[in-house]
Amino acid sequence: MEIIEETKYWNKPLETMPQKELQKIQLKKLQYQINYAYHNTRYYKKSFQEAGITPEDIKTLDDFKKVPMLYKDDLRADRAKTGDPFGGILAVPYEKIRIINASTGTTGVPSVFAYTYDDQLQGVEQEVRIKWSRGYRPGTKIYSTGFRWHGYVQLAYPGGDLLGFHSITETGYPLPNLSQKHVIAIKYFKPEVLAGPILTLYSIVEAAKTLKEDLKQILKDTKVIDTGYGDIVTMAIKKRLESETGIPPERIFDFGGVADPLWYFGDCPSHMGVHSCDDLFLLDIMDEETHEVLPEGERGEIVISNLFAEATPIFKWGSEDTGYIERDVCECGRTHSRVHFLGRAAFAANIKGRKVFPSELENILGDIPGFTEYFTVLKYSKDAMDELRMKMAVNREKIKDMGAFVAEVKRRIKEHLKADSDVTIVESVSELPFVGHKTIKLLDLTKEKK
Ligand SMILES: [Zn+2]
Repeated sequence: MEIIEETKYWNKPLETMPQKELQKIQLKKLQYQINYAYHNTRYYKKSFQEAGITPEDIKTLDDFKKVPMLYKDDLRADRAKTGDPFGGILAVPYEKIRIINASTGTTGVPSVFAYTYDDQLQGVEQEVRIKWSRGYRPGTKIYSTGFRWHGYVQLAYPGGDLLGFHSITETGYPLPNLSQKHVIAIKYFKPEVLAGPILTLYSIVEAAKTLKEDLKQILKDTKVIDTGYGDIVTMAIKKRLESETGIPPERIFDFGGVADPLWYFGDCPSHMGVHSCDDLFLLDIMDEETHEVLPEGERGEIVISNLFAEATPIFKWGSEDTGYIERDVCECGRTHSRVHFLGRAAFAANIKGRKVFPSELENILGDIPGFTEYFTVLKYSKDAMDELRMKMAVNREKIKDMGAFVAEVKRRIKEHLKADSDVTIVESVSELPFVGHKTIKLLDLTKEKK
């Protein structure tokens, strides 16, 4: 698995095309999609009419601001009224549908989307560009865990076939007995890439201990961990995986997606944010309240517009995730947008008017020996807070001097977030608030006073 310079891009002309050229492609495809959706779907015809616009009004990328936002709740409301499971955005007859994807419904009733065969191919194109950028090549041995519950699986197989991977895919939720099966399979298959959600990887670590297998030893041929799948792969997570598997942070990659608009992303070996495919998607960062498009680098809601969907066209899809985008050329030579996810705005702490996300803390503090992802930020005021108050559980074995550890935590918070902090070290993880298997990263104390 070494990247040969001449072949380091799957699709060099597109992946290294200047942003100005990419924008021309984006405008052309956007105009086509808007016209297509307007004439073939009930929902867009109605929403455009309500906004007082027609497809002909979109002459520039700037005109795109006239198009209304689309949220899951809009489609749910339509479905409740009309009984149409697609909420009025299906643009093809049922016979053309190849896959139906219902979202996991973590935040309410699942939303339903459809993909045609051509849609699926465009999804696969995103997948193979990312995997190729990391050096996966025909014959690369990949062991994948727990994919079948996600819409992503529809891409993983054809994508892997297209690239000629030697792949074994296992199934299942991260239950202990299934994780033991993973450990045994890894031991004999000796994969070069171990892929799976963070939680599944953690459960494999535990299963190896139960089986008295040395995970570092059985992963000695493994060069890369491919993880994320919906969770932000922070430095704290990378350091924990490194300590258990021996694979260093620079070889731990983040892959993820939003299945509804069929958008996928992943980081290249430069790890400068996750790459999106700008010829297939138009991304905007918008102010969470006013929906004004924000300049490059500013933080706001990540808004996704699909530029190819045949079955269920999606524009201005509000992801409800906060992040920022960079569009200067990446160290890898790719010119496409790099996205930095921060998390849900509702879980950020307001320190002196600036939103501080738990993922930022994990990235800033993640490589201090002894720091773990088990911490809770306390929201002690409904208004902007003067200082960051947090409780954390630490790995005491890795800390020689607790005073120096706390001082370093406070120094980094001050340096990166420009905030003073009050850090309490708890005796054990059990002293922190939990929901399910995850620590509550932002605990709202202001509600308890009622
Ligand atoms: Zn890159």
